Amino acid sequence: MLRITLPLQKNAAPVPAIGRVAIIGGGFTGATLARLLALHEQYWPHEIVVFEPRAHLGGGLAYDTDDPSLRLNVAAHRMRAVPGDPQAFVRWLSDSGRLERDPDAVANGAVYARRGDFADFMRGQIQPFLDSGIVKHLRQRVERIHRRRGRWQIEGDGGAMLQADVLVVATGHPPPTPPSALASRLVGDPRFVANPSRPGALRDIRQNDNVFIVGAGLTALDAVAMLRNGGHCGQVTLLSRTGHLPQPQAAGDFAPHGDFLIGVPDTALSVLKRVRFALEEVTENGLPWQSVFEALRHQGQAIWRGLPLLEQQRVLRHLRRRFEVHRFRMPPQIAELVGREKATGGLRACAGRIVAVQPRREEIVIDIAARPHGTMERHGAQWVLVATGPDHGNATGSQTCLSELQRLGLLSKDPCGLGIACDAESRALARDGYPMEDLFIAGPLARGTFGELSGVPEIAAQAEKIAQQILEMSFATTRTITIRSM
Ligand SMILES: Cc1cc2nc3c(=O)[nH]c(=O)nc-3n(C[C@H](O)[C@H](O)[C@H](O)COP(=O)(O)OP(=O)(O)OC[C@H]3O[C@@H](n4cnc5c(N)ncnc54)[C@H](O)[C@@H]3O)c2cc1C
Repeated sequence: MLRITLPLQKNAAPVPAIGRVAIIGGGFTGATLARLLALHEQYWPHEIVVFEPRAHLGGGLAYDTDDPSLRLNVAAHRMRAVPGDPQAFVRWLSDSGRLERDPDAVANGAVYARRGDFADFMRGQIQPFLDSGIVKHLRQRVERIHRRRGRWQIEGDGGAMLQADVLVVATGHPPPTPPSALASRLVGDPRFVANPSRPGALRDIRQNDNVFIVGAGLTALDAVAMLRNGGHCGQVTLLSRTGHLPQPQAAGDFAPHGDFLIGVPDTALSVLKRVRFALEEVTENGLPWQSVFEALRHQGQAIWRGLPLLEQQRVLRHLRRRFEVHRFRMPPQIAELVGREKATGGLRACAGRIVAVQPRREEIVIDIAARPHGTMERHGAQWVLVATGPDHGNATGSQTCLSELQRLGLLSKDPCGLGIACDAESRALARDGYPMEDLFIAGPLARGTFGELSGVPEIAAQAEKIAQQILEMSFATTRTITIRSM
């Protein structure tokens, strides 16, 4: 590979080097980036095209729902969705009258708004730029991407064919991959729901049907909330490796506690020791343990980046499950539902792994080896749902356009299996390990590099940096040409 940096022509009029930016995916990440780029319209006459099959930009998988039982997992004042205006969402909730119309949002001294309301808020953020035409929403799914004479050529499934100077991959959460024991016996069975987040996926479940859910995180609890909201009263069983459910949010407000960046820990064990120490401190001082996980969230990127690759992989192997149940917490409304359902026996959580599945006419029989002793347990249910969460390790495999880029060597999987490899500037790393100057990875798919990049505030901050870089590229005084042999 050869990289040459050339000065742009002397005395030439400053012509913006970038005419069009294409963003694949218009969920929270894609919409935020499009808006931030559009804010600079007066300095930079360009066009931003967002490919997104959903009807509106800004919602994506997380928030594009009108189910009133689905609430934000995080209090509204912690959403910090708009860079430079952290309380914009809280203000909107009150100014738009949404809060008044949804009194149940207030719980434990904070506001846990409906997810659909957050999507509406985001829609309002991007709408002026759609109206002015600087942002274009192409309601198509990107199928193919080619490289043609130093530009990107993008093909949508509705026939769109577009060239762009900069490409941003913001395709977010890939679908879950069902455990092989399930997939081999149940794929094609109408009682098997491989992706319960898909609109209408739970529609055929009857009131008294028993439901077996593989996974016990927030996605599984979303399914429970949607079922119960729709009048379902059958037995629900959740299966996970540990049997732990997400922890609840703390009551009231609290400050983050713990400084993990003094002499940044460089092993998984040293991170664990520091977390334990901080937890002891908060217990002694009568503070909620959630304050430690809030500090971990704020410092998460620096902690992650301070760990060598082997230690990052150790964190994922040994600490990930325990971390996730404390980091991705359930809102008080869901905590109340779970408490009630567990007390009445309507909801059971068990730990173990599936060893056999038999689809019978009246029900599906699932045998599990229960933890900790491996004793065999038999469960029967009319429905089996997969709620193991997005399979980020399969981010490129789940999309033809991304697997094609990977095949061409223009992007690669990250070595931790969390998504797509990129550098600290969010530029995709090609197969040769060098960054692609005009290909950015935005949102959760870049977690392998940043660690903590799932929540709205962190994604918004990353989008702000990417927007700044694209803007700088546009007015660069030099141009780097990369010649790759592939
Ligand atoms: C259920 C859920 C609840 C959450 N709740 C909270 C919360 O309360 N607070 C918080 O801070 N964080 C929360 N998060 C985390 C965070 O907000 C999300 O991770 C964030 O919304 C990610 O947005 P995204 O746009 O990157 O991804 P997504 O939401 O997955 O959006 C990606 C978009 O890309 C589109 N797309 C995919 N492939 C293509 C293609 N080939 N062509 C065109 N378009 C494509 C999809 O249609 C989709 O709309 C939640 C996440 C989930 C999944």
